[in-house]
Amino acid sequence: MRILMIILSGLVWLLPVHAQANDDFAIEALGHGIYVHHGAHLDIDDGYQGDICNISFVVGSKGVAVIDTGGSLKVGQQLRLAIAKVTPLPVLYVINTHVHPDHTYGNAAFLASHVDEIEPEFIGHEKLAAAMDLRQEQYSKLNAKLLGEDAMGTILVKPSIAVKTNLSLDLGDRKLLLMAHPIAHTNTDLSVMDGQTNTLFSGDLLFIERTPVVEGDVRGLIAELDKLKASGAEHVVPGHGPVSQDLVLAINNAQTYLKVLLSDIRDSIKKGISMEVTMNTAAASEKDKWLLFDVANRRNVNTLYPALEWE
Ligand SMILES: [Zn+2]
Repeated sequence: MRILMIILSGLVWLLPVHAQANDDFAIEALGHGIYVHHGAHLDIDDGYQGDICNISFVVGSKGVAVIDTGGSLKVGQQLRLAIAKVTPLPVLYVINTHVHPDHTYGNAAFLASHVDEIEPEFIGHEKLAAAMDLRQEQYSKLNAKLLGEDAMGTILVKPSIAVKTNLSLDLGDRKLLLMAHPIAHTNTDLSVMDGQTNTLFSGDLLFIERTPVVEGDVRGLIAELDKLKASGAEHVVPGHGPVSQDLVLAINNAQTYLKVLLSDIRDSIKKGISMEVTMNTAAASEKDKWLLFDVANRRNVNTLYPALEWE
């Protein structure tokens, strides 16, 4: 019986259930109280509708932790509805994995709407609040331009708890361990590990299938991916892309792209090849392995080339 139960609980991971929470907000139930909504693979410059990243929630015996909230109040509200369909327990924590607007702008849906309502703690990297302040104007203009009516009522909600190194959150029968990272994808990266299932929520430190994006430091990102590789996680929910049971393979793929990108840009700089030309040539050997390659890769070169010129 015990063996059968272990086999059955293993099967839950292999056969995710695609339940329709509401019309266009599908939730993947990974089992063991973990749920993921996968946004569409769209670029922020091409068809962006505020719903492009992975949004997760973890249900414990005391309440729920949300990991990223989507790119608008509307998406956050859809998430809140989806959670209410799964459990009557309150949302205790809203965690943001980093500052990017596709991951944070749904926070507003979790603010208390009346005095008796319990408001969750909003949790982010120690640098998240300052990064939100810096980008608020740019992001709200961008959201209004790209989302039109869907941007209505969307405000940035800053963290009430800042994570400097590590933080453990108690959901009752399970604990989440949060880790703040040095500069990598951004300067505000936070990863989350569920101790009960050994599931890692990497935020945008890891992309699967979709081309990785670097805004912070490419060498830092490669190093933080090494740390995540050593975490021993058995399941990983990336910032974008499908859930994987092979963390090492997923990280190796991302690191291969990042290392080729870094080496090709350095090579261009050494040979005096311009950034414009490099935008079309760097990491070309990786092109067929990734979605949205051209736009993301050009943007990465645009970010990294000027920084690497001063190495
Ligand atoms: Zn991001």
